[in-house]
Amino acid sequence: MENNSNSMSTLMDEASSSSTHSEESLMVGNHADQTIDYLERVRDNPNNCRCADCDSEYPTIAIMSWLMVICKKCAGKLVFEQILLDSPLPCSKAVHRRLTSDFLYLQSLLSPACDHYLIDLLHDYGNQLANSLLENDQSKLVKPNDQSSQSDREEYIRQKYIEKSYLSSNSDYTQEKLNQMLYENVETSNYEKTLYLIILGANPNYSEKKFAVADHAKRHQQIKQMKMILANGGRDFLSDRIENEEQNSL
Ligand SMILES: [Zn+2]
Repeated sequence: MENNSNSMSTLMDEASSSSTHSEESLMVGNHADQTIDYLERVRDNPNNCRCADCDSEYPTIAIMSWLMVICKKCAGKLVFEQILLDSPLPCSKAVHRRLTSDFLYLQSLLSPACDHYLIDLLHDYGNQLANSLLENDQSKLVKPNDQSSQSDREEYIRQKYIEKSYLSSNSDYTQEKLNQMLYENVETSNYEKTLYLIILGANPNYSEKKFAVADHAKRHQQIKQMKMILANGGRDFLSDRIENEEQNSL
């Protein structure tokens, strides 16, 4: 999996520039071809042509963990919180930690480091799937728009991603049951169910008989399932073990 801090710094660089889709045409060289390919592939799904949060046009940031595409204004809040985790700040700024999204992996679609398996999943599912889960309960939903203030946007992001207030769930599964269901499901190509279980709180690092969920997916040749688990913070214990053994043998 790509180095998160590298992709995050790319994202921050990008966030500091003007926020228009014209930047896509400013990219030069091979990277331009690659990233335009990513964007075109993702936007081939019409649901990904608008921000999953505020509905503004031409979003360029992917929440790889939950297969969503959002704009910079919405990402900024999430990105900022994520950056804070890596760089301790004075207590006066600790308020931002309340909104932290350390469990979400964000990636600029203008970065050449995108994972093509996840890009394929974004294309196939994207905003429609994630929002059908996260915004299923419309009764309390107050969605921001392109003109919304940062505080309104922040409140919506908190409710949607942290509190999961708009997630309609009749599930009363125990944590153990959620974990087991995730473990079993990664043997299949039911990616929707994997996403749903993770949003409900299934642990991407759950393991049985020394095999973590990501290992289990790989053993069943479910590479996209493995990539989803890794994008949600799951570890690949098999690779870790092989790496450790190689280091020990040096
Ligand atoms: Zn937005």
